[in-house]
Order: sequence, then C-alpha cells, then structure tokens
Amino acid sequence: MTDTSNEAQQNANGETTDQLTFQNPVTRYPAIEPPEQHQSEPGLDVELEPKTDRGEESYRGTGRLEGRKALITGADSGIGAAVAIAFAKEGADVALNYLPDEEPDAQVVKAVIEKAGRKAVLIPGDLLEKAFCETVVENAVNELGGLDILVNNAGRQIVAESLEELSDEQLVDTFTLNIIGMFRVTKAALKHLPAGSSIINTTSVVAYEPPPILLDYASTKAAINNFTKGLAQQLAPKGIRVNAVAPGPIWTPLQVSDGQPTEALPEFGQSTPLGRAGQPTELAPAYVFLASPESSYVLGETLNVSGGMPTP
Ligand code: NAD
Ligand code: MG
Repeated sequence: MTDTSNEAQQNANGETTDQLTFQNPVTRYPAIEPPEQHQSEPGLDVELEPKTDRGEESYRGTGRLEGRKALITGADSGIGAAVAIAFAKEGADVALNYLPDEEPDAQVVKAVIEKAGRKAVLIPGDLLEKAFCETVVENAVNELGGLDILVNNAGRQIVAESLEELSDEQLVDTFTLNIIGMFRVTKAALKHLPAGSSIINTTSVVAYEPPPILLDYASTKAAINNFTKGLAQQLAPKGIRVNAVAPGPIWTPLQVSDGQPTEALPEFGQSTPLGRAGQPTELAPAYVFLASPESSYVLGETLNVSGGMPTP
C-alpha cells in the first residue's frame, strides 16, 4: 500500500509545511543564509549545510501516480530526489540514476521510497558515456517491468568567470550531460513508452536570463526548452507528452560544488520576489502534475517554479 498518511511538518512559525495545507509561501520555509562551503563535484546532500527538504516527511501523496513506472536521472539528491520521493508517495515505482560517488545520498532516497511502500531500483552510472545512456533505460525497464515516466533531470553547472577561463573539457562535458545525454536517454526510452507516458525535462530560469558566469550551462538550458517544445509536437500523435520544469534558485548540492561562487552562497535565493531560496520538495508538485493524466492537454510547456522571478 502507498503511504498517503504521512504527517505534515511544522516550520519555525508553527505553520504546517506539507504541500496541500493553506499557508504563506513567504514563510513556508526560512530564508536560509548558507555558510560558505565547498564540495567536489557532484556534491552530496548528506554533507550540505543547512539541510534541505526533499519531502521525506512533508510531501503528502494523494494516489495520483498509482501503478506508474518512472526513471529519474540525478535522483539521489536535490530536485531529482524530491521528485523520486513524491512519485513514490503518489504510488509509482521509481528507478534512480546517479553517479557511483553519490551512493550515500541514493541510499537515503531508496529508504524513503521503500517506507512509502514502493519499489526503488538503483542504477548508478555516468551519463557522459554514450553506451550507458541506453543501459540505464534497459535496466530500468527490466527492473520495473516497463516504463511510462521519464524525468531527464541530471545536470552539471560549474561557474567560469570568463569565456577564456571556460575549458574545452568543461564546455564539452556540460553539453554532453545536460542536452546530448537528454537526447540519448530519451531516444533509448521511446521504444518502451506506451501512449499516456510522460517525459519531463529539467531546464532552468537561466534559459531566459543567462548569468554571465554560466554561459555553457545556461545555453544548455535554453536548448532543453527548445528540445522540449519540438519533441512534444513530434510525439503528440503517439500520445506521449513532453514538458519541462524550470526551477529558480533551489538549495541543492549543485550550488556548493562550483555551481555558484562560494562567496555568493550566504545570499543564495534572497533576491527572488519571495525573498528566499526554494526547497527541492517545492518543485515536486510540478513534476507530479506533468506526469499524471490530469495534465492530458498540457504539451510542450515549461512550468516555471522560480519564487516569482519573471519569465517569458
Ligand atoms: P543535484 O546536484 O542534487 O542534482 C544534479 C544531479 O546530476 C546529481 O545528483 C547527479 O546525480 C547528476 N549528475 C551529474 N553529473 C552526472 C553524470 N555525469 N552522469 C549522471 N548523472 C550526473 O542538484 P539539483 O539542483 O537538484 O539539480 C537537478 C537539476 O535541476 C539539474 O538539471 C539542474 O541544472 C537543475 N536546476 C537546478 C537549479 C537549482 O537552483 N538548484 C535551478 C535550475 C535548474
Ligand atoms: Mg547528487
């Protein structure tokens, strides 16, 4: 049985923080001031300070993905972990891809999924490798007994102060993981996805407002929006919907593993209209909506979850 009765958490103001309770979004989570910190890429949630909310306790499932089978890349930490936890609490079995170094984070997410009464399939491996982009899909299909949700969420973001300082290796790796890997994994998944399936790609608000120190990363995120809108048209007649989610500043290990300059971390997310960084679990309802049949007429859309940062 799916656990849909998890208790809601309380925040510092004594307010309930599960996603279905009426509450003030300004104070749902505190405006964090993370201490300056650094982890080597890809970074771990278990070492992040302050900790994040990935919905372990706070996400409340309502059975919207009962019996579904999902593959999520970058699912050990941050947004991908929050999506994996929410999908499981909504009734889906979930295959999690991540890098082998991230095993400690993956084990945490696996335990939450199993506590929710769902299956968690762990598929560590590097999506920079072309062959693995097919292997990850085949393993997920075999272990889950099929596939009807694909979340392309893995990504790398590494600051470079100038174009001259952007190494060719970083340029190629950023594009290979963030957009070429997305093409490859999606292509491998297509033969398995029945009508009714959903593909959801993680893009970013930087697709519209590229920070000058993230030229390579922001370019891939703009490409993801474009890929999403084109593929959505191509797959619509097959009954497969393709959409994207564009997060604003969300507190995750990506930020402390050279995703931001270290000295910028204490103010992370404070310039949004809500005045605070987002927590990973605040992204989950957007992915659940796009995965579930209730969004049957939503195709080629990018849902912006950005704390009010203006988007086109
Ligand atoms: P995260 O570090 O928790 O997740 C990124 C994941 O990418 C890692 O956990 C890792 O498993 C995976 N990854 C990295 N290199 C890989 C490789 N070579 N092979 C396989 N997997 C690899 O950080 P996050 O912020 O949750 O990032 C998730 C997605 O959200 C990314 O696509 C990121 O660009 C996007 N995003 C994040 C923010 C934010 O503010 N955190 C904002 C906009 C978009
Ligand atoms: Mg991770």
